[in-house]
Amino acid sequence: MLKVGLTGGIGSGKSEVSRRLAGHGAVVIDADRIAREVVEPGTGGLAEVVAAFGPGVLREDGTLDRERLGRVVFSDPGELARLNAIVHPRVGERMAELQRRAPDGAVVVYDVPLLAENGLAPTYDVVIVVDAADEVRLDRLTARRGMTREDALARIRAQASREDRLKIADIVVVNEAGLGELDARVAEVWTELLARRDA
Ligand code: ATP
Repeated sequence: MLKVGLTGGIGSGKSEVSRRLAGHGAVVIDADRIAREVVEPGTGGLAEVVAAFGPGVLREDGTLDRERLGRVVFSDPGELARLNAIVHPRVGERMAELQRRAPDGAVVVYDVPLLAENGLAPTYDVVIVVDAADEVRLDRLTARRGMTREDALARIRAQASREDRLKIADIVVVNEAGLGELDARVAEVWTELLARRDA
């Protein structure tokens, strides 16, 4: 098995890359998706979040109101640590379970948006960073996601800088041209991953 960490700042095109790697045959484990699943209604994770932060973080339909919870935790590092202590171990367990289920010899791609921030890069055999200039990311986030420029800029600034992200990269995918170019680059990267797996 080859363990690949895939990361990139918001709007870099990380999801486009992960989708293409899955198309080539990678087993993709999506950390954000798992982080949502572990606090779905009926989970022990959600019960703990409610015990810690109160029923005010629930919507009427019983799902987690992420915006509300976000306002609580992003203004207070202690509260954020409390939330992370509930969510992170559950995410880790689920990721380990999915990894155990991957077939022998699989290329397992962990899509982890905050890999540069969380210090876990050394736990992967290979780290791929998807990179694009801030201006390009801003354009994508405003044009395709409907964010305001200020919002998009604030999100970009809240994450690691491009420079810090590039420091953990073994392979860089520059994604500043079109999706056709991205197809070609990901095909090259896939060949390189297979070579590393078989080395
Ligand atoms: P997030 O961190 O928010 O998940 P991301 O890095 O996963 O962002 P994507 O969702 O892959 O980013 O890309 C952001 C937007 O830009 C999407 O609408 C995507 O289709 C588009 N996009 C990505 N790469 C390109 C490209 N090379 N050409 C045109 N559009 C692109």
